[in-house]
Amino acid sequence: MRNGLLLVVSGPAGSGKGTVLSELLGKSSDFCYSVSATTRAPRPGEQDGVNYFFLTRAEFEKRIAERRMLEYTEYVGNYYGTPRDYVDAALADGKNVILEIEVDGAAQVKRLFPSAVLVFLCPPDLETLERRLRGRNTETEEVIARRLQKAKEEIMHATEYDYIVVNEEGGAARAAEELLAVAQAERLRAGRCAEERIRSFLGA
Ligand code: 5GP
Repeated sequence: MRNGLLLVVSGPAGSGKGTVLSELLGKSSDFCYSVSATTRAPRPGEQDGVNYFFLTRAEFEKRIAERRMLEYTEYVGNYYGTPRDYVDAALADGKNVILEIEVDGAAQVKRLFPSAVLVFLCPPDLETLERRLRGRNTETEEVIARRLQKAKEEIMHATEYDYIVVNEEGGAARAAEELLAVAQAERLRAGRCAEERIRSFLGA
């Protein structure tokens, strides 16, 4: 069986990554989601092993030393990283693996796996982003201002990605369809499947 696709999805807070990825995972069983490890504290409702693997700094650093992280970064004072074993096994099983990670991690993955596909999920405009951030109703003005600034910085990295998908207001289903289309097209790339097709055509 062919290896699956490594699909990296980044986007600022308020881009709607969570909603779009849930739509995608609900639409197709060919995809699976890599649960990251982090040293940040769980938010209300978050579960260990579902949203993240919540680790202490010492545990995280031990895993880095043991080379058990495919990539990792420090983001706003906490470590975030992708456990290597799960990704290797799922790809070998022919699954398309989704990594929901920030821009620094995405660049590391692209260096390690040039065949990874990088998709930047973008909110339509700043006003929409601000409205979404305020809509959560949980953050102070100062935090909202910091997140908006961070979002502007992150969006500047969109040029380093292979695809940009815009998550319009109420458009999560459409954005998920577009991600699916990207994955389908990428799997048909001659560079990924020509040899296998020729062998199968020749019965070799
Ligand atoms: P949050 O704390 O809001 O859950 O995540 C903060 C940022 O870390 C988000 O941009 C998220 O995509 C990113 N992130 C989550 N997991 C990983 C990971 O395993 N590696 C990297 N590099 N970034 C991650």
